[in-house]
Amino acid sequence: MHDARALLKTVFGFEDFRPGQREIVDAVINGRDVLAIMPTGGGKSLCYQLPALARDGLTVVVSPLIALMRDQVRALQAAGVPAAALTSANTPEEQEEIFDALDHGRLKLLYMAPERVAVSGPLLRRARITLLAVDEAHCVSQWGHDFRPDYLRIGDLRQSLGGVQTAAFTATADAETRAEIAQKLFDRPPETFLRGFDRPNLFLAFEPKNQPRQQLLRFVKARKGRSGIVYASSRNKTEVLAKALSDEGLPALAYHAGLDPVTRQQNQDRFQREDDLVMCATVAFGMGVDKPDIRFVAHADLPKSVESYYQEIGRAGRDGAPADTLTLYGLDDIRLRRMQIDESPAPEERKRGDHQRFSALLTLAEAPRCRRMTLLGYFGETLAEPCGACDLCRNPPKLFDATVAAQKALSAILRTGERFGMEHLIAILRGETTEKVAERGHDRLPTFGAGKEFDRNQWRGVFRQLAALGVVWADAERHGAWRCAEAARPILKGEQPLQMRADALRPAKGAGGRAA
Ligand code: ADP
Ligand code: ZN
Repeated sequence: MHDARALLKTVFGFEDFRPGQREIVDAVINGRDVLAIMPTGGGKSLCYQLPALARDGLTVVVSPLIALMRDQVRALQAAGVPAAALTSANTPEEQEEIFDALDHGRLKLLYMAPERVAVSGPLLRRARITLLAVDEAHCVSQWGHDFRPDYLRIGDLRQSLGGVQTAAFTATADAETRAEIAQKLFDRPPETFLRGFDRPNLFLAFEPKNQPRQQLLRFVKARKGRSGIVYASSRNKTEVLAKALSDEGLPALAYHAGLDPVTRQQNQDRFQREDDLVMCATVAFGMGVDKPDIRFVAHADLPKSVESYYQEIGRAGRDGAPADTLTLYGLDDIRLRRMQIDESPAPEERKRGDHQRFSALLTLAEAPRCRRMTLLGYFGETLAEPCGACDLCRNPPKLFDATVAAQKALSAILRTGERFGMEHLIAILRGETTEKVAERGHDRLPTFGAGKEFDRNQWRGVFRQLAALGVVWADAERHGAWRCAEAARPILKGEQPLQMRADALRPAKGAGGRAA
C-alpha cells in the first residue's frame, strides 16, 4: 500500500487535497462502500483514482461521458499509470489489447461505458477487481434528466463480482436521488459524504502588505492569550517571527523541518497542550496537529494555491467556535511563488497547472465582493448571499465602473478565439508587437492597442477581477486559455454595467509595498 499523500504529489502533482477529498480517499482506501456528493469541479475523480493506485488490484470506473473518459485515461497514462477505456468506440485491436492487459493483470484503472456494463461480467470476473467506482451515479435515477438504463445493471455487475467494494460519485445532492442511488447500487447503506465546503465559523481576510511585521503583530496582539498558527514561507522567517512575537510578550515557538526532531516534537507537544501559544511555522506544521481550539491562522506570506490556503486556514476553529484568519500578500510573494514554480524540476505541463492554481489564489486575494463566495465558487459550490463574515462584507472595497475596460478585455478574448493566455491578450490590448502577436497577425485586430490607458499590471488586475466575478475563466484543458462565461454577454452588449475594485488598478500600491 502506498502513502496517499505521496501519490497525490508524485502522480497528480498536487500539494494538498481539496476540501472533502482526503476523508473520501481514506474511506475508500480502508475498503468502505462510499457515496460521495461533491460539486462539479470539486475533484471527484481523484477520490477513486488515488485509492486505485494506493492498493493492489484493478479499479473499474463506470462513466457515461466518453470524451471525459478518454481525457482521464490520457492524463493517467501520461503520469505513467496503466489505464484504459472500454467503450463501444474501441476498435477490435484496441479491445483485444485491453483484454490482454486485463488477463495479465497489467491495468490499474479500467474505464467502462455504461453499455458495456451488462456484457462485461464474465470478462471482469477473471480480473482481480478491488473497487467498482461509479461516476455520475445519479444516472441511475429514473426520475432524473440523466437517466441511463444501463446504470441499473451496475448492481448486477457488483453482485457477479462477489459484492465488490463500491464507491459512487455525483454532484446531485437532493435527498431522493441520494436514496435512490443507495438503494440501486449498494446492498448495504454506504458511508455517505455530503459536506459543504463552507466553514462559516472562520472569518476570512486578506491584506496587502505595507508594513507586514506590524500588520502581523497587530493581528496576533488583538488575540493575545489564544492559540494560533502563523504560516511563513521560509524556515528562517518562522524563527524571526517567533522571536518578534516573544519580544512583544506573546508566547511563540517556531516549527519547521530544519529543527532537530527533539525540539520539533517538544514544540508541537507544547502547542497541543498549552492554550496561549502561537506557532510560527512552515507548511511542514499541520498534518499531525489535532487541536480543535486553534483560534486563528495568519499567513505572513501567500500560500501556493487556493487548495493550500483552504487547508491551512481550515486548521483553525475545528471546534466550530469562531476563529479568525488573515492572509498577507505582496508583490514579493507573487514573484517568489512564480519563480519557485518556474525553477522547479517539474515538467512544463505541471508548471502551467501550478501557475494557474496560484493565479486563482491571487484572484481570491483581490476579490471584489464577498470572499467566501469567491472561495466556494472556486471549488464549484455556490453561496446564495454574501456571507457577512469576511473582510469584504464588513468593509466593501471602493468600486469603480469598469464596463469599458471589461468590454475591451472580453473582446480581446473573443476575437482571438478564446485560445490565449493573459499575457498575450494584454500585449494585444496594449498594442505591443511581440513575436507571438506578429506571428498570429493579432496586430491587425481592432482590439490591438485599444487598451493603452492601463499598464501591464493594471490589465492583470482587470483580468483577475473578471475571473473573480465569474465573467471569464482560465480553461485548464486548454493550457489556461481565457474563455468567456455566459455572464460576459450582457456586459459586452452594454446591458449590464460592471464594477471592479478601484485598488485592482493600483497594484503597485495595492498589492505591493515593502518586502517583509
Ligand atoms: P469533478 O468533481 O467535476 O469530476 P475533476 O475530478 O474533474 O472534478 O476535478 C476538477 C479539477 O480540479 C481538475 O482540473 C483537477 O485537476 C483539479 N483538482 C482535483 N483535485 C485537486 C487537488 N487536490 N489540488 C488541485 N487541483 C485539483
Ligand atoms: Zn463575505
